[in-house]
Amino acid sequence: MAMMDDLFGINVFNDFAMRQRLPKETYRALHNTIDDGRRLDPQVASVVANALKDWALEHGATHYTHWFQPLNSVTAEKHDAFISPVPGGKVVQEFSGKELVRGEADASSLPSGGLRSTFEARGYTTWDPTSYAFIKDHVLCIPTAYCSYSGEALDKKTPLLRSMEALNRQAVRILRLFGRLDATRVTPTVGPEQEYFLVDKDLFDRRSDLLFAGRTLFGSKAPKGQELGDHFFGTIQTRVQAFMAELNEELWKLGVLAKTEHNETAPAQHEMAPIYSIVNVACDHNQLTMEMMKKVARRHNLVCLLAEKPFEGVNGSGKHNNWSMFTNTGYNLLEPGDSPHESAQFLLFLMSVIQAVDDYQDLLRASVASAGNDQRLGGCEAPPAIISIFLGDELTEILEALEAGSDYSGREKADMTSGVHMLPKFPKDTTDRNRISPFAFTGNKFEFRSLGSSASISDANVVLNTIVAESLRQYADELEQAKDFRSALHDLIVRTIRAHKRIIFNGNNYSEEWRIEAARRGLSCLESTVDALPCYTAEKNVRMFETHQVLSGTELRSRRDIGLDSYAKIINIEAETMVMMTRRQILPAVLRYAGLLADSLNGIRSAGCELKCGNSHLSAVCRETDLLSSSLEELESALSAKPSPDPADHFARYMHDRILPLMSVLRVHADTLEKLTDKSCWPFPTYDELLFSVH
Ligand code: ADP
Ligand code: MG
Repeated sequence: MAMMDDLFGINVFNDFAMRQRLPKETYRALHNTIDDGRRLDPQVASVVANALKDWALEHGATHYTHWFQPLNSVTAEKHDAFISPVPGGKVVQEFSGKELVRGEADASSLPSGGLRSTFEARGYTTWDPTSYAFIKDHVLCIPTAYCSYSGEALDKKTPLLRSMEALNRQAVRILRLFGRLDATRVTPTVGPEQEYFLVDKDLFDRRSDLLFAGRTLFGSKAPKGQELGDHFFGTIQTRVQAFMAELNEELWKLGVLAKTEHNETAPAQHEMAPIYSIVNVACDHNQLTMEMMKKVARRHNLVCLLAEKPFEGVNGSGKHNNWSMFTNTGYNLLEPGDSPHESAQFLLFLMSVIQAVDDYQDLLRASVASAGNDQRLGGCEAPPAIISIFLGDELTEILEALEAGSDYSGREKADMTSGVHMLPKFPKDTTDRNRISPFAFTGNKFEFRSLGSSASISDANVVLNTIVAESLRQYADELEQAKDFRSALHDLIVRTIRAHKRIIFNGNNYSEEWRIEAARRGLSCLESTVDALPCYTAEKNVRMFETHQVLSGTELRSRRDIGLDSYAKIINIEAETMVMMTRRQILPAVLRYAGLLADSLNGIRSAGCELKCGNSHLSAVCRETDLLSSSLEELESALSAKPSPDPADHFARYMHDRILPLMSVLRVHADTLEKLTDKSCWPFPTYDELLFSVH
């Protein structure tokens, strides 16, 4: 491998490249835009474009693209060559400031949720200069936001940038109240831990469910699963190690801070965690990570499965979203701090998150809702559908003491009226033990663990940034009017603890007692995507998003409908795949096997012997085959009666209430038959092969 210095970021037009290639004034002007969100002068853009083009050509690029993230959670690109004709039948390679800053995408086939009807198909892409341009497969990719002609967000980046701005606005107001005038910007940071599975490509190719749905729709448990706990952090298999090494190299070239790699809980499951960065960059990088995981796996004759629940009976995959807020002076606002002054400020920011999660539990749940993630949430392997916060005992006791106005564990009286007292330092391991809470404080950041492995991290962070901005807005409104800041601050913190402590839960999130307790506390429990997504347009949520100018009511409606529509379509694809596999593979296979069995039993009988176990085995196969066949017919007829895709909520509700249960019944019979049938007759690879074949 090349030295890290020669490798890291070689395909990125990063700050180092900018400094090298841009005139000083241009570099400074561009930095003003990057650091302070100031508008970019067209003249500056044109100088940048030219330097960017020269750099890209030197690095082997032939095309450029405005790289964006439409509402279906993948990335989109349309390549344009740099060429421009000149007289004499020749071309020159050009790239203007206008082409850098703004593009037009006739993307009428991308989902818009009714925001852009196809006859006004034009959408515009706008450069996000805070995320560096990079080269991928000879194409210069310019990270962009994507909006309709009338300015509505048609992508995942626009609201993310707006939510960062909203959080910045409110957090800076709070910092001013604490006299921190040095910090002029606050930016949310995220480190997303990405889980995934690797399976052998030859086996993958023989399963239509993996091919069409990205997850197995049939399959009985292998004799061994994850019960021995021997895969988590286990020695990495040679083939997987080779994959990881190449993945790291590809990611490092793209400037992705790939840091940690290890085997995860389930057999064939692994994880990669990057070092955190500002959230829009973390989001871009996570998209690139998922793309590279898939690409690099192919080179090793492997397939990377990003689906949330590729295999029943073993853990599914998620994405832990580690989130905090930093000032431009490098200070983490969720770091408990060393002085009493910092402690009070920390407590207020901590309360802003606690209140936000309590006030907008429904939105957080909606932000992680998808057909795939429904298979995983609540399965005693991932956080449940009920959102709650794990704070750890120490911090919880401090809040309790503050609320009661009493001493904290015999230490100083935690009373903040007389200037603030020192909070104890929380050793990280006292807060990091819990692994099952959906939303855990882990020392100096919160870890939101409900995100699905295939999702864009944008949705969850748009919600997180905006709801915390909303708590901070309320605090700033109140405290800015206060006559005595210290006592007002104390009252506010105590009042907030009292009002929102119900969201704190440090116990076992998987237990039945918690479900009952959560209901008693009035916490929301949105079991499925069809229950969760409509929350996007609840009146209180629309008002909150509009207050901070992050998403309008119309934009929220479009997001809700796209989510419901894709939920219904995914289930439809899965159900159709099950029908196809049952009709054309499983039924013929078991009929053939039953025939073979009957023939051998006849042969045995004509030889004068009677095989009782053979008869009962054949009867079991026949009985299950009949049950399989009738459940197949039921699923087929329910599918043919499905409603039209519009309205999306009706369509999604039908798929959830009617189709999903029938899919489960069909699967039970097929899986039983798999266990009864001669392995050589079974028409596709089974779990034991899929989960244990990569060495
Ligand atoms: P683990 O969860 O395995 O104990 P860490 O908690 O150290 O590991 O880190 C997990 C992820 O959290 C990494 O991506 C890391 O970069 C990220 N992270 C650490 N500190 C912060 C922070 N202040 N803001 C956002 N992400 C962070
Ligand atoms: Mg972690």
